[in-house]
Parts: sequence; structure tokens; C-alpha cells
Amino acid sequence: MLRFNDIADRMLEYNPGIDLELLQRAYVFSAKVHDGQERLSGEPYLVHPLEVAGILVDMRMDDVSVAAALLHDTLEDTLATREEIQRLCGEQVAFLVEGLTKIAKIEFTSVRERQAENFRKMLIAMSKDIRILLIKLADRLHNMRTIDFLAEDAQQRVAIETMEIYVPLANRLGMHWLQSELENLCFGILHPREAAELEKQLSVGGGEREKYIEEVIETLADQLSQAGMRAEVTGRVKDLSSIHSKMESQGVSLDEIYDVIAFRVLLSGGESQCYGALGIAHSIWRPVPGRFKDYIALPKPNGY
Ligand code: MN
Repeated sequence: MLRFNDIADRMLEYNPGIDLELLQRAYVFSAKVHDGQERLSGEPYLVHPLEVAGILVDMRMDDVSVAAALLHDTLEDTLATREEIQRLCGEQVAFLVEGLTKIAKIEFTSVRERQAENFRKMLIAMSKDIRILLIKLADRLHNMRTIDFLAEDAQQRVAIETMEIYVPLANRLGMHWLQSELENLCFGILHPREAAELEKQLSVGGGEREKYIEEVIETLADQLSQAGMRAEVTGRVKDLSSIHSKMESQGVSLDEIYDVIAFRVLLSGGESQCYGALGIAHSIWRPVPGRFKDYIALPKPNGY
């Protein structure tokens, strides 16, 4: 279990100026009002706000956001009031927690209405303070990570909502790590048979695939450094959900998918260096006609 001290220590590493007492007050209050409540997992409820706060610390968020994360379910699920939070942790924290509570309350209308309305309200909330949206995304991520404890129909509902609302939001914010973790968790729930099958298929020859990835990284890094470029080359097997959506959209089997693995080259130079590196890659591996677009992703110009 993540402890408050771990959160505080990790925050101090990236920002020694955080208001530790604020965080302490938020934590103690949250522990007090959630006392006796349990999650479906049987763990003390407090585990959840702590984990959500931990995700925000991974995102290197500020102390106000982390304090609000510790308190994010208190207005909704306990007898705590906005005034108490405001007195204890200030107006900003109270404002964020209130915004999160408003989003959580939109769960009473019908499915379709709820989704459209959820989306709109969240966008409005976002325009007031983007931190509300980031805390909500962290909240959803932890709920998705622990979704096994929900009944099956509730899992389906939450996964659909996540795909329709939170995945697009994470995408629009450029938070691709969050987007792909959510997509993968949803994939396992919405397409359990395909997920299991794909996992089984990918495990065949998995050792060789890893070896191949290592070889490509080594070759490319070597050639780039010989050309005087400072490059960081990484490679990985793609996410199950992204392989699956490619198989669906192209109507092909796993054997016919070219890009089960993906490589990334990070360079210290500008755009022309990216093309230089691409040229080197093409001199080692001949590009497949019509598939060039998969080979390069340059930063998009402003307003694109
Ligand atoms: Mn929550």
C-alpha cells in the first residue's frame, strides 16, 4: 500500500518548495472522514485517494492538485462539506474537489444522456481549471486498474464509458501513456476472448521477437552514432489493443500485421536531423511502398 510519506518524499524530489503541511492536513482529514469505509476489494477506502494522489505525483503535479486528489471523494461519499475543506486546505483545493464532485454527480441520467452531458461538463470544468480533468483521469485510471472487483455488467459499463469519454480526453491532452493503459484495460474487458487469443499468439516466438528488437536497437543506435547523432533508440512490442484495432480495421490476421513491434528514435537535433535519421534507417531496411507514413512522426506545427 502506498503511504502518505512515500507521496511526500517523491514530491519533494521534484519540488522542494511544496506545502507539506497542506498535504498533511488533506491526508489526515481524508483518513478521518473515510474511516470505516471499504473499497469493493475489502481494502480501507483511503487506499484509493492515496493511489490517485500517487498517479498525480507520477505526473509531477503541484501540491494543490495532490491535496485535492487526497480529498477527491470526500464531498461525494462522506459527510465532509466544502466549507470544511476550504477552511482546512484553502479555496483552490475546495474548488478542485467541488469540480470533481460535480462531474461524479452526473451519473443519474440515462446512459446516452449521461455520456454526452458528462463530456460537456467535463470540458467546461477543464476550461476553468485543467487540474480537475487531470485528477479525474487519474481517478479513472486507478478505478480501471482495480476494476476486477466490480460485477461483470458494471465492468462493461465503466469500460465503455472509459473508451467513449476518458480515452479521447487523454488523447487530446497528449497523454499517450495514460490513453494506452486505459485502452488496454478496456480491451481486456470488452473483448476478453480476443485479448486472450492475441496474447497467446504473441507469446509464440516471443523470445525471438525480443531478440530481434534488441538487434534492431543496437544496429540503429550504432549507425546513428557513427553519423554523429546523439540518439536514444527504444523498441517494444505494441499494445494488445492497438494491434487488435489494426487487425480489425484492415481485416487481417496477426501474421499479416507488419507492425507488431515499434521503434522510437529520440534525437537532440531539429527536424532535419529527424529526416537524416530516417534516411539512415532506410539505408538499412528498405521502406515498404505505401507504408511510409508509419515511419516518421514529426512534431506538428502550432495550430495543426
Ligand atoms: Mn475516486
